[in-house]
Amino acid sequence: MDQQVPIVRRLAEDVVNRIAAGEVIQRPANALKELLENSLDAKSTNIQVTLKNGGLKLLQIQDNGTGIRTEDLGIVCERFTTSKLEQFEDLTKISTYGFRGEALASISHVAHLTITTKTNGALCAYKASYKDGKLKAPPKPCAGNVGTIITVEDLFHNIATRKKSMKSYNEEHLKVVEVVSRYAIHNPLVGFTIKKLGESLTEIKTNQDSTHIDNIQAIFGSTISKDLLEVNDYCNILKVKIKGYVSNPNFSVKKQIFILFINNRLVDSQGLRKAVDQIYSIYLAKGSHPFIYLSLNLDPLNVDVNVHPTKHEVHFLHEDKVIDKVIDAIQDKLSGANTSRTFYTQT
Ligand code: ADP
Ligand code: MG
Repeated sequence: MDQQVPIVRRLAEDVVNRIAAGEVIQRPANALKELLENSLDAKSTNIQVTLKNGGLKLLQIQDNGTGIRTEDLGIVCERFTTSKLEQFEDLTKISTYGFRGEALASISHVAHLTITTKTNGALCAYKASYKDGKLKAPPKPCAGNVGTIITVEDLFHNIATRKKSMKSYNEEHLKVVEVVSRYAIHNPLVGFTIKKLGESLTEIKTNQDSTHIDNIQAIFGSTISKDLLEVNDYCNILKVKIKGYVSNPNFSVKKQIFILFINNRLVDSQGLRKAVDQIYSIYLAKGSHPFIYLSLNLDPLNVDVNVHPTKHEVHFLHEDKVIDKVIDAIQDKLSGANTSRTFYTQT
């Protein structure tokens, strides 16, 4: 009996790129995170985000960073083109968010991407549109400020299944707002705004040169700020710096607010989330949870940021011990908070 043996073929480059793009850019909030990180890498001090339909119709980010050199506009959206990494060894001491040179490329494979950019000292700005990593036409001179505007339109227009899996514009919108808020809290020296296209009111606005607390207050309201404890600890053995703000036992929310940055990257850690909830369960009523904003700085040699293209997950050495140390630091503050509460009532 003749059996058909499948033929092995090489995938066409655009198919490979679109598959890879789908991995990096899963929803508008991922795209926005990449773009925000690029703006921060470009040393921006002001970042403005504009959205339409949860970012699916329009996702625009304007910054006042270094801009992109006109001569680089031709390759900037190709895969693996970056100004941030030259050799693999540099990864161990990388201080920028980006290094893979994949974000702009990925976005250009799943959306209409336009870059308007001006560098300091340039006579004018340049505007360029991209499709599948390539310039659609030579960049055009135009008016503009120093910095970069990245406009992403019709995200997932060419991936029907992905588009369908987006449940609601509102859900995507809130996810984008969440990412911007978190970066705003972590980067108080940078001013952030976010608004819907066509609306004059900003949804979130933080000022340049503010503090972590100012921004927590701007985003989560003023009631929380009086119930925050500052955590500031260093462990010599693990070489970990622990900083942040956590709520005291007077404050609680229905769902834990957990904001974690490791070496300035927004990440998640189920282990730490759970451990945190466990210590707060001593202080809070059942079903009540704390607000947590933590920034951990680990020796870059102990962190592997290159686990996944979204960089959402980072791996680090001695994870359990680090978590224990963080919990100790919070516990110290919480037990101190109890005594200071008594103190307040006495005066
Ligand atoms: P990566 O950030 O990993 O280098 P990206 O695809 O995100 O890769 O960006 C490619 C390059 O485009 C960056 O290395 C940077 O030189 C440039 N770039 C992207 N966004 C900006 C921006 N907002 N301001 C200045 N340069 C930018
Ligand atoms: Mg990047």
